[in-house]
Amino acid sequence: MPQQPLGVALIGTGFMGKSMAMAWRNVATVFGGAHPGLAILCDQTPDLAERFAKQFGFARASADWRAVVADPAVDVVSITTPNGWHRPMAEAALAAGKHVWLEKPMALTLEDAEAMTAAAAAHPGQITLLGYNYLRNPAFQAARHLVASGAIGKPLQFRGIYDEDYGADPAQAWSWRHARATGGLGALGDLACHLVSQMLALMGPVASVTALTQIAIPTRPSPDGAKPVENEDSVVALIEFSSGAQGSFASSRVALGRKCRLQWEVQGSEGTIIFDQENMNEFWLHRRGEAGFTRHLSGPEQPDFAAFCPAPGHNFGFNEQKIIEARDFLSAIAGGAETGPNFAQGLVIERIIHAMARSEGRPIML
Ligand code: NAD
Repeated sequence: MPQQPLGVALIGTGFMGKSMAMAWRNVATVFGGAHPGLAILCDQTPDLAERFAKQFGFARASADWRAVVADPAVDVVSITTPNGWHRPMAEAALAAGKHVWLEKPMALTLEDAEAMTAAAAAHPGQITLLGYNYLRNPAFQAARHLVASGAIGKPLQFRGIYDEDYGADPAQAWSWRHARATGGLGALGDLACHLVSQMLALMGPVASVTALTQIAIPTRPSPDGAKPVENEDSVVALIEFSSGAQGSFASSRVALGRKCRLQWEVQGSEGTIIFDQENMNEFWLHRRGEAGFTRHLSGPEQPDFAAFCPAPGHNFGFNEQKIIEARDFLSAIAGGAETGPNFAQGLVIERIIHAMARSEGRPIML
């Protein structure tokens, strides 16, 4: 008897809803295995749900997320709603026996993230995965492998930046992202958490952070008049790693001219590696004795690149990272190794960004 395909429910059809829909539709095409069954598409209204169920190729549509996560045809729930919905939706899905693929950040508050981690621990047979897609970029994986294998010696310093300018226009309308009750943290929850995920993968655990945050644009226009921005537009921080290495760290959502400057450098005792997500198909490496930096362009020698394309230099993209993430999620569900970050590993990221948020220039031990 052929096995039933895994039943997928996807909640949310915005930026990341579309990205996860593409991942679910393409994961078996790229990596093989059984195609997941696209069971239910959920959004806030029946109109939205029906429109996107057709567009994304889901069998059914629903505007009732509680019914969706409890539906017996659903084995896994993809959650791409605004941050305030993450905890109730993830906890309900776990309680209903489902695997959960959740967009970052985990939640609005550290307490929420702790409760979600406890909920996941209470269901050890169910896989959780957070949407830290930049970890899946083949160029990042290759650079991380070089650091881990000692190619640049002992890591001494990390310099990390994640800047975008999507919030730089003061005329930009107030949205759920600007309120603590619906967005949680600002640049820290939206952007910096990605940089933390890469920093941990490259440098290992963090011992302490010392940070300053800033709200650059204190109000935003809304149909009801100017509304206050309650969370940080930017952050700067110093990092002390458990290994003894040091780091500097900055992130902003109001950095004019910057689009996806997820950029870092690891300086080691024997060399330096540089990466910038705006040029996501390459990293640069210098080793002691070389004249300068050498460009390492992504190509089929990186297995996750080869799965998409046999030709070097033909470039890999943002949404393709999500397809690799879907592969890793399915592999863990099938009993393979968990690549994470799962909720417990995501909680470590949340502890760091919330420590930065409350530091006000004082060192916070982690
Ligand atoms: P978005 O506003 O584009 O989409 C949100 C979607 O959720 C919309 O379709 C909205 O109608 C739907 N929604 C809201 N409340 C709902 C409810 N109660 N029931 C059902 N549907 C509901 O937002 P986005 O940019 O896609 O961000 C969503 C999440 O993805 C956020 O947590 C954000 O931090 C994260 N995100 C991650 C990345 C990444 O690189 N991993 C990039 C962007 C956003």
